[in-house]
Amino acid sequence: MFDSLSERLSGIFDGLKRRGALKESDVSDALREVRIALLEADVALPVVKDFVNRVKDKAIGQSVLKSVTPGQQVIKIVHDELVAMLGAEASGINLLGVPPVVILMVGLQGSGKTTTTAKLAKRLTEKEGKKVMMASLDVRRPAAQEQLKVLGEQIGVKTLPIVAGQMPVDITRRAMDAARLQGFDVLMLDTAGRLHVDAELMAEVKAVRDASQPLETLLVADSLTGQDAVNVAKAFDGEVGITGVALTRMDGDGRGGAALSMRAVTGKPIKLAGFGEKMDALEDFHPERVASRILG
Ligand code: GDP
Repeated sequence: MFDSLSERLSGIFDGLKRRGALKESDVSDALREVRIALLEADVALPVVKDFVNRVKDKAIGQSVLKSVTPGQQVIKIVHDELVAMLGAEASGINLLGVPPVVILMVGLQGSGKTTTTAKLAKRLTEKEGKKVMMASLDVRRPAAQEQLKVLGEQIGVKTLPIVAGQMPVDITRRAMDAARLQGFDVLMLDTAGRLHVDAELMAEVKAVRDASQPLETLLVADSLTGQDAVNVAKAFDGEVGITGVALTRMDGDGRGGAALSMRAVTGKPIKLAGFGEKMDALEDFHPERVASRILG
């Protein structure tokens, strides 16, 4: 995902390291190139500006320029600011509530919502020993409920039996009753998506949210859609209130802008990253590791 950005940055920083002593103008020139590299990676302009200003403020201080290894110090500052931009600490899925804890999965159609629901259910079952039930509330897309059921069978996670003709809020209530009565720890609700954010979609998601009182509302967004993914997250957060983001298709050759801008623009953490279609291809999003990968 970050290959071309990573290559650009390493070219810029190799130049700085080779130089030994640095003048203020050397740092400014390098940061101008960093700015272009980030914009070309599709990072949102205000995020880029803020990032470059922060690095500049810290790097142009005399202690950095007069140090023995000024180039290294500048790179360290860039690294630290990159981690801050990505969200500093890794933040896991919050399960601290009275069971069944509800995790609401929201997002546009095709973003990878159903796949991510199943991947996360598998992870919570296998790694955290939770008893998880999944329910699909997607009554629009033909076979959407069936798709979740098939995935559930594949990963050994129970899905709520399908009742034809039931509406999302009614399915939600039935799922909550079933999860409570059958002693499940976690109930994952996979909502319907649309091709675009629209009022009807938001009204439906809000009704489900109110009926289920989720502990986590995760926005599933396709990282390959760049800044659009960030705008979708902003829209969902404004309307529904999200607690975090799951970025899918991080295995693709996108430019990385979505991952880099998401936290700064929405204020919400990226909690999960999807790296493929397989049920195991889901990882926690670690800002520190991602920053290190970008800087090589
Ligand atoms: P939904 O409409 O949001 O529920 O999307 P789906 O879960 O049905 O996913 C749409 C397609 O994207 C499916 O073919 C998935 O296998 C694929 N997909 C989901 N997540 C990822 C990912 O992280 N990487 C890749 N390469 N494909 C993914």
